[in-house]
Amino acid sequence: MASIRELHKQLIRKEKSAVEIAQEAIERIQTVEPKVHSFLCMTAEHALEQARQVDAKIAAGEEIGLLAGIPMGIKDNMCTKGIRTTCASRILENFVPPYESTVTQKLKDAGAVMVGKTNLDEFAMGSSTENSAYQVTCNPWDLSRVPGGSSGGSAAAVAAGECVVSLGSDTGGSIRQPASLCGVVGLKPTYGLVSRYGLVAFASSLDQIGPLSTTVEDAAILLSEIAGHDPKDATSLKVEIPDYAKLLKPDLKRKGGLKIGVIQETFGQGLDPVVEQAVKAAIEQLQELGAEIHVVSCPRFRYGLPTYYIIAPSEASANLARYDGVRYGLRTAESDSLLSMYTKTRAAGFGAEVKRRIMLGTYALSAGYYDAYYLKAQKVRTLVKQDFETAFKKVDVLVCPTAPTTAFKAGEKTEDPLSMYLLDLMTIPVSLAGLPGISVPCGFDQRGLPIGMQLIGNVLREDQLLQVAYAYEQSTKWHLSKPPLE
Ligand code: GLN
Repeated sequence: MASIRELHKQLIRKEKSAVEIAQEAIERIQTVEPKVHSFLCMTAEHALEQARQVDAKIAAGEEIGLLAGIPMGIKDNMCTKGIRTTCASRILENFVPPYESTVTQKLKDAGAVMVGKTNLDEFAMGSSTENSAYQVTCNPWDLSRVPGGSSGGSAAAVAAGECVVSLGSDTGGSIRQPASLCGVVGLKPTYGLVSRYGLVAFASSLDQIGPLSTTVEDAAILLSEIAGHDPKDATSLKVEIPDYAKLLKPDLKRKGGLKIGVIQETFGQGLDPVVEQAVKAAIEQLQELGAEIHVVSCPRFRYGLPTYYIIAPSEASANLARYDGVRYGLRTAESDSLLSMYTKTRAAGFGAEVKRRIMLGTYALSAGYYDAYYLKAQKVRTLVKQDFETAFKKVDVLVCPTAPTTAFKAGEKTEDPLSMYLLDLMTIPVSLAGLPGISVPCGFDQRGLPIGMQLIGNVLREDQLLQVAYAYEQSTKWHLSKPPLE
């Protein structure tokens, strides 16, 4: 689909109505969805109603914002009042939230048109969207391959042109990694920049909501809309939100020079040579654009993955205790005691990966092991963070690959959870440190599958991050390629 700005122009010039734009998106979904399966639920009626309201405003001569009338997909772990929110889990199969998440409320208020709720790994736990209890989403670039995860539905929907932008959530890479595998832009903001109110919790100290889009400008526009302090989220930051899109410039020439640091530990073993080549070429391009390139070392980057797999499951085990068949969600019918009701409900409602995480987390938090595992992991988390702090004393933005490989075949890694966990090697440290990261398309492999470059910013420096991503994007053509879906 066209970009936010293009559609906005068409709307205010009355070349197209919001209803027409919504209908185009709905038709596109009907055409490609049987192949891609990005959406768990389509909300066509809701979308047309939102669009009609935008058209009424335009007809009345009222000013509309950039997001008014823009079709978007929302990951199905964000609560939408009156619209089923399943988290791709059987345990929430019939959950219709009585309240709206802050991000979706902001988008509604801005006149955005939600076309559907997108597929994900159950409770956002996974890297391929294959952990969804309902369906497998296909990568639009090769339908036999995965779109990445856990926001695979949101990434595939944007790549397949089913919506202009979408929202994903990222705990250890779930926006950036699927963006990389689907050839789109995906931004995880600084922890606390975007409200988590109404986002179904996975690992609360890591979860962040962010945009997926075909262009950096669209991501910038969406971020300005969803960011900002929210009294309903205790970890939400009280900061001024700039108009990120206004700050974008086509080059990186700055007074004093913009310094970009290449994380040396992310190149080498385990990295697909074709990904390495593409990211190295992209770094040369950043230099062409005026950036000063430095090599930096983050020696404790590699401890990120094991640290995450203690912290995230620990938090998940506590967060998921609420699904007990009593409060809300699934309850299995026949049980002879309270305990058997709990266990039967949870056995039937959760999938294998979620159960694995609950067990890992419960173990790491238990009295005898807390110090050895959870407490230790928290300390290592600080060390990972310190490596970034040291690097940011020397440079403004860091760069590395987003994922070690391009999209793999569906089913290829489902039997081997460790190989699946390894996919987030480069995104997880950024999450542990609470930093912003963005994945931008930077090439294709020999099979025509997209490759992503990850840019990492200092705390709350989304402005700088988006500027680097934008200058790079504008000087290349990767983002203009579309998957051969027809
Ligand atoms: N793939 C990672 C996991 O399975 C990250 C998921 C996420 O960011 N939500 O936990």
